[in-house]
Amino acid sequence: MAHKRFDNPVAQYFYNIYEAVTTTLIGLKLTIKTFFTKPVTVRYPKVDILKGEPSPENPLLSHRVYDRFRGVLYNDVFKCTACGLCAQICPIDCIYIEAKKIPEGKGLILFRFDIDEARCMHCGLCVEVCPVNSLVFTREFDYIKPSTDEMIERFVDEETNKKLIQIAIEKAKKAAAKKAAAPKPQAAVKPPEKKSETSTEKASENKEEEEKK
Ligand code: SF4
Ligand code: SF4
Repeated sequence: MAHKRFDNPVAQYFYNIYEAVTTTLIGLKLTIKTFFTKPVTVRYPKVDILKGEPSPENPLLSHRVYDRFRGVLYNDVFKCTACGLCAQICPIDCIYIEAKKIPEGKGLILFRFDIDEARCMHCGLCVEVCPVNSLVFTREFDYIKPSTDEMIERFVDEETNKKLIQIAIEKAKKAAAKKAAAPKPQAAVKPPEKKSETSTEKASENKEEEEKK
């Protein structure tokens, strides 16, 4: 709404009041609508509000958790490249990563990937920055643990680490085999060198010059 200016101060005064009331009502449209909507109690967990679509049998599923809800973070460590961008961008440093290269493997290998879910403020920066979309928000909203210490989610345990090492070694072997099988580039053929003037040609030229003198 463009703000109008009046020459008459009384007109301006009443216009300002009108503008303040209308813009407030526009801003509160959704709040007012929700205020007059009948409250609904979903019998969770009997009604699974994470799955399914609303239907005549399950009308309460219209209150299901939104698809873009920012719940608990999850990292698919088999997709993750251990680049560390998520940990770098996190404003409160609640992602902890340890990654190493092993001589016989390919790429970085995750030894630790922890997220302190108790500290996370669900800003979404880490999810935005992840280049391979391995780090995502789940729709899990009822994340309850007995203490905040137990809210550190560890995505790489010993077993997972072993699997990651195995995958990296296999990748390295495949890459080496591919390199060995690739046709070797042929040595470049040198163009024939321009013949230099022979000594006899040079001698005859010198003789001609002497005779002219
Ligand atoms: S959502 Fe924000 S606060 Fe939570 S881990 Fe990601 S970057 Fe950090
Ligand atoms: S940004 Fe994505 S790929 Fe990089 S370390 Fe984080 S989760 Fe892994």
